[in-house]
Amino acid sequence: NMLQLNFNSPEEEVFYPPFRDFGIRLFFKRDDLIHPFISGNKWRKLKFNLIKAQKEAKTHLVTFGGAYSNHLLATAAAGARFGFKTTAFVRGENMCNEVLSICKVFGMELIFVDRDTYKNKSELYEQHYANNLSTYFIGEGGAGLEAELGCREIISELQNTYDHIFCSVGTGTTVAGIINGATTQKLNTQVHAVSALKNGSFLRNDIDNLLIKPIFYTLHTNHHFGGYAKSEPELIDFIKDFSSSTGILIDPVYTAKTLFCIKDLTSMNYFKKDARILMIHTGGLFGLLGMKEKF
Ligand SMILES: *Cc1c(COP(=O)(O)O)cnc(C)c1O
Repeated sequence: NMLQLNFNSPEEEVFYPPFRDFGIRLFFKRDDLIHPFISGNKWRKLKFNLIKAQKEAKTHLVTFGGAYSNHLLATAAAGARFGFKTTAFVRGENMCNEVLSICKVFGMELIFVDRDTYKNKSELYEQHYANNLSTYFIGEGGAGLEAELGCREIISELQNTYDHIFCSVGTGTTVAGIINGATTQKLNTQVHAVSALKNGSFLRNDIDNLLIKPIFYTLHTNHHFGGYAKSEPELIDFIKDFSSSTGILIDPVYTAKTLFCIKDLTSMNYFKKDARILMIHTGGLFGLLGMKEKF
């Protein structure tokens, strides 16, 4: 009884005046449309974990995340959809918000742990599940080899070719999968990784460690807007302008920063005329609720 795990996401041109005026063509791979809750790259990162868990006859997914984690939401929804029990260790004080509420509706058990305890995830897991044969460990944000493998499918699904592909970076797993996918498919495309974190240059090492073959790519570290889950009024205004003129939401933690980076490069004439640029819309729209009072 195999899991039915094929969600293909559309690939579409996006018409946003500031890009058109500079003579580039912008496209999105709409991974935000994969599923309302099993969204974007978090689905890509879960897919092969679910297959492995099923092969090993595991029935209970155990994972980790912060209070607005897209990964927790995706795991809760996927667990409910595909018949796994789910538990999450949540970083910080016992609290509730929109994301955690929906996790609970999907049946996820939440265990709040303080920041120090949270740091050692394998120890936490061992303490609770050392002799439990039904549990399956999934790293924070879905990290791991299965996750990188799933992200390669973002590239193998593409119907068209592009001069540049842009992707947001938290841990770098998703962009590493994209680079490996581009290597495997022998694409003649420049891949750009945009850090959502401050001082993101260390990410190059993390990404390189996941590559099947060393290859040139560009890491952008100046579009973090103050750091992870931080924003500035300019970013908030950009989100409102973009979403109100295209009908496509972008999130303030990841995708808006990446699109802003594309906009900056465009206005600096970084791209050749009529360049075809693809942004991977990695989803994560509940991140908007994490900053709801800023809009
Ligand atoms: C988690 C997330 C990312 C970061 O993915 P990594 O594989 O950790 O680099 C990017 N975009 C969105 C919307 C996310 O939720």
